[in-house]
Amino acid sequence: MRGRIANRFIINYTIMFFISIMVAVFAFLLLCFSNHLISKELIKNNITADSIMKDDYRSIDATGVVENSGGVQVVDNLYKIVYSEGINTFSSNSLTITEFTEFLVHSKSKKNTFNYSIKYNSKEQFWLIVTFPVSIRINFGMVQNTEYISNDMNRVVSILIAILIFYLLLLAISTVIYSKITSFGFVRPLKKLCNSAKKLRDGDYSARVTLNLNNEFGELEETFNAMAEKIEMEMKLRQQSEENRKKLILDISHDLKNPLTSIMGYAERSLNKSDLSDEDKMKYLQMVYNNSIRANGLIENLFEISKLDSPEFKLKIETLDICEFLRIEISKMMPMLEEAEFEYDFDIPEEEVYVGIDTNLMDRALYNLVANAVKYNKTGTEMNLQLVQREIDIAIVIKDNGIGIPEHLMENIFKPFVRDDTSNKVSGGTGLGLSITQKIIHAHNGSIELSTNNKSGSEFIIILPKI
Ligand code: ADP
Repeated sequence: MRGRIANRFIINYTIMFFISIMVAVFAFLLLCFSNHLISKELIKNNITADSIMKDDYRSIDATGVVENSGGVQVVDNLYKIVYSEGINTFSSNSLTITEFTEFLVHSKSKKNTFNYSIKYNSKEQFWLIVTFPVSIRINFGMVQNTEYISNDMNRVVSILIAILIFYLLLLAISTVIYSKITSFGFVRPLKKLCNSAKKLRDGDYSARVTLNLNNEFGELEETFNAMAEKIEMEMKLRQQSEENRKKLILDISHDLKNPLTSIMGYAERSLNKSDLSDEDKMKYLQMVYNNSIRANGLIENLFEISKLDSPEFKLKIETLDICEFLRIEISKMMPMLEEAEFEYDFDIPEEEVYVGIDTNLMDRALYNLVANAVKYNKTGTEMNLQLVQREIDIAIVIKDNGIGIPEHLMENIFKPFVRDDTSNKVSGGTGLGLSITQKIIHAHNGSIELSTNNKSGSEFIIILPKI
């Protein structure tokens, strides 16, 4: 990947270089054109020595030159300045032939800060020199004599070609080095991201990336890490639910196996023993019946759980006064509590508190909790049902002072098949009741907890949102 990005950078820089050359050439042409336009207007080109030349130098009109900050000098054939108006760039009024020759040679030098227009009057034998200070001069040009080929031509051309090759080589090397350096800032974080993405792909969900950058890569780092975290969590959940599913199947088969084996055993004995007494037959039938009820109860509960888990499952929500609903529920449960010789106490407010519930399912959830209290505790146990109003929700607290739930089961008590086997030997419970209750409450957007503060007995707290 590094190679590809670095190459892209080389191509980009080369294109950029050619574009900048083209822009420079265009700018130069534009400059030449504007120079051409300007030069027509320049005073030095409008007032020249030729244009003001007179045979009698005394009658030369220097006003235009002087008004434009220039000067006019006349040098006779003895190199004396015989006439001078305006600025004068000569150091003395009498020149030697060498000085004047030097002046003539250097008068057209590009470095001169004055422009000189010089004209020789052959009739009267004097030089007329018009001087203007230079405003700005830009010089660039290539000159070639097309009529005569110079001997130096080959040498000059090969030097020019060598310089061009050297320049291009230097350019290529610096472009490669520069693109490598600049692409490093992109390639390094990309490589890190790529490595972490590969790790994720290969199943290492703990893979994260650290770039410590404040640019877009920094944002990408955050997004990548958040995504990796989500994937890790999802995978853990998936693993967990897969384990739960396996455990559930194992528990179901285990729990169904016992009653079915008993049914088969007693049925077989009844069939094979022709000399069975009526009393034994009744005993065996009773056993078959009891185990069928147990197997049926288990299957019904499992059916209930899968129904609650199914995506098609929908609650039949009714908005009603939960206080009134609880009073009706209590009246239904009272015979069961009476029969179990339980002490009970209910604390339901008189006012109306509205919640949305599926009455059948809520009835089932509450029944499970109260029936458990009755099932697992001795006569004389006290049971309390209370409704607490809160700001946005309500809490239904179902509490008993019975044997309580062993501490080691508390954390997982709402999971299927979690039960206290010592108490279940007596009750024959399936370990699905609390799981069903929790699914019902969750379907109502509520929550259920087993209070851990309660040292004696069990306390379940159901939270439901108010309407
Ligand atoms: P089950 O169908 O076996 O009753 P649950 O999920 O309803 O299953 O209950 C799980 C376990 O929690 C029970 O086996 C029991 O040991 C314990 N339990 C639930 N409620 C109470 C309670 N009120 N008092 C004592 N133990 C309880």
